[in-house]
Amino acid sequence: MAVTKTHGPEKVREAYAAGLRVFGENRVQEFAGKALALADLHESEWHMIGHLQTNKAGKTAELFASADSVDSLRLAEKLDAAARNLNKKMSILIEINVGGEAAKSGVAPGSQELEDLLRSAPRFEALDFRGLMTVPPYIEDPEGVRPYFRRLRELRDAIVKRKLADVGTGVLSMGMSHDFEVAIEEGSTCVRVGTAIFGEREKR
Ligand SMILES: *Cc1c(COP(=O)(O)O)cnc(C)c1O
Repeated sequence: MAVTKTHGPEKVREAYAAGLRVFGENRVQEFAGKALALADLHESEWHMIGHLQTNKAGKTAELFASADSVDSLRLAEKLDAAARNLNKKMSILIEINVGGEAAKSGVAPGSQELEDLLRSAPRFEALDFRGLMTVPPYIEDPEGVRPYFRRLRELRDAIVKRKLADVGTGVLSMGMSHDFEVAIEEGSTCVRVGTAIFGEREKR
């Protein structure tokens, strides 16, 4: 996934021309401003990867194919209602806070919130639960991040074993510019790469 936050439509076009099709943005408002200028890129697939407030559920369902940062049952409810209103099906990933960091969003492994999300999957007709996503703690040496990636994979494997209805577990979205190689070794199926493709971002 090419992460295009802070970059203008021209950069996205270049990436698309080079063959990239899956893109990530972390702010609904920012993408709303670009979406119109990119409407002709018919094969592009947009994912919301940043923290989502429930009051942005409607706009998210409108603009994105997938919300990869779902971290509460309430947010899933809002997205489901919004997607149903639009007669569309939306993919979601559950974001897991593998490092237990206070400053990061995501549900804790083993938490009641995660349990509620997994068990509620069958009643969300417009949502397709496809897997897990994480943003691990930043550690200078990518090897230091390996245990967090491993933890996400083990959590996925534990969920697979339970054979829960309507919970897809194929997607493990993990790995960014500085640690994607380690993430792939640990089973990532989707690396989210911004800086390594587009260069350093300007401060907002
Ligand atoms: C910005 C961002 C990325 C990409 O980060 P880079 O270090 O630039 O590759 C990946 N995931 C999320 C959730 C992001 O916000």
